[in-house]
Amino acid sequence: MRYIGIDTPEAKQANKRLVEGKKVKLEKRLKSLLLSIIYPSTCISLPSFCDAAILTAVVNYETVIGLEVHAQLLTRSKMFCSCNADYANAPPNTHVCPICLGMPGVLPTINQKAIEYTVMTALALNCTIAEHAKFDRKNYTYPDLMKGYQISQYDAPMGQHGWLILDTNGAKKRIDITRVHLEEDVAKLTHRTTPEGESHSLVDVNRAGVPLMEIVGEPDITSPEEARQYLIKLRAILQYLGVSTGNMEEGSFRCDANVSIRPAGSTDYLPKVEVKNMNSFKAVYRALEYEVERQKQEMAKGGRLVQETRGWVEDKGITVSQRSKEYAHDYRYFPEPDLPPLVFDKSWVEKMRSGLPELPEVRRERFVSQYGLSLYDANLLTDSKAMADYFEDCIKSITVSSNGADLHKKTKAISNWLLGDFSRMLNATNTGIEETKVKPRDLVEMLDLMDKGRLSGPTAKKFFEETLFTGIGLSVSDMIAKKGLSQISDSSEIEEVVAQVIASNSQAVSDFKAGKEQALTFLVGQIMKGTKGRANPKLAREILLHKLGGN
Ligand SMILES: [Zn+2]
Repeated sequence: MRYIGIDTPEAKQANKRLVEGKKVKLEKRLKSLLLSIIYPSTCISLPSFCDAAILTAVVNYETVIGLEVHAQLLTRSKMFCSCNADYANAPPNTHVCPICLGMPGVLPTINQKAIEYTVMTALALNCTIAEHAKFDRKNYTYPDLMKGYQISQYDAPMGQHGWLILDTNGAKKRIDITRVHLEEDVAKLTHRTTPEGESHSLVDVNRAGVPLMEIVGEPDITSPEEARQYLIKLRAILQYLGVSTGNMEEGSFRCDANVSIRPAGSTDYLPKVEVKNMNSFKAVYRALEYEVERQKQEMAKGGRLVQETRGWVEDKGITVSQRSKEYAHDYRYFPEPDLPPLVFDKSWVEKMRSGLPELPEVRRERFVSQYGLSLYDANLLTDSKAMADYFEDCIKSITVSSNGADLHKKTKAISNWLLGDFSRMLNATNTGIEETKVKPRDLVEMLDLMDKGRLSGPTAKKFFEETLFTGIGLSVSDMIAKKGLSQISDSSEIEEVVAQVIASNSQAVSDFKAGKEQALTFLVGQIMKGTKGRANPKLAREILLHKLGGN
């Protein structure tokens, strides 16, 4: 029945009723849709495209992320055999024995150091250490498993109920740690395709049996940025403890992420997706950002999210479905019969606790109180143990005569240089501070020469870049003298260059005289160029202004 175009009071009244009826129906539909999102198990029908579009417009989703981190432990031998665990530069399948090759009839032996490292980590993460723990067999069929099962821990892990504190924009946020447990790493598979198009996989067993600690976090993370910060904090703790290199690119520190979305304010979850294959902090951030958006889009299209495992494809910047997510019962866990249960004596645990080194959180607070650094700078410096160590070695190199305001100024200069130019150079070459050849005392001497006006900023940067991986050898001042890099602060020498620059840039000179300030910057640039960056820029500018004013 249509009333459009019929201009009678009855028709108008009927039309109004129709519109209102449609509105009520739509509201009802919307309400049921919201309920179906909040309580997916009660969802009877899939939202239509039109409904989903309305829904996406009105539903604000929040992100829920839980991270599972695997870290290889820095023990000398593997987890259950005496093979060398340092296989990074070894030819494939050379660090192997009947135990890590999974031969029948062999018996594993527990690596005590790996147990200690796991307990240290659990304590540093504020976990409760179990009085009794045990190893279990996790069964699954994949060619990277030599035995057909992995020795892991299931219902009796070593550490539980811990937490880690994040500092996000000055506010502290606690991320709970579910558990810390120990297992063995698996073999490495390399998938190849020949030019003829034939696919095959290569197995390297060197990695199989390397102690692998797993740290499972609660789904308390609400953004990709928080996830990135969590990983940085966690890596720093492992590095400070000396239990892992924390190197993500080399695969000794790996992260899987469980990602889901849910209507803001809801306490239930939509199906979660496990994202794998991210091998850098940047990759984790990008993959999470992509996955959250994908899930929102999926809901907007009226689709349904499924619990699955997806792999991050770095060069395409997407995640792709790999398999439906396994549940614990898929693994048929049962206690490892070849290993004794673990019993943790309270006094032993306390001994481990008192033996923990200074951790990043404490060191950061100390940097603020002892050196007067801002919380922001202290945070950046202590996020990497190597960087924090380098900073403190620099402080030790400051001459004893420095004190009070002078000491504070020098400390600040060192921090600025490390977090600024030094970090930029390291990032550009993708290297760690421990790989540089410039010693802390060289950096302090260089900053001292800059402070005294004997070395210009640009020259210092250039000099530093050149010697970063070769080392200085001589003292910085001797090297600078040898290379003829010292800053020119002699007026007569600069005056000569200024005269040449004025003579050969008449257009810029007239521009300046006509009031164009930019021309002055250009002329100072020419003087710096003429002295290969060695002129004292302040003095050069003064002399130039004087000469231009005098003409
Ligand atoms: Zn072995």
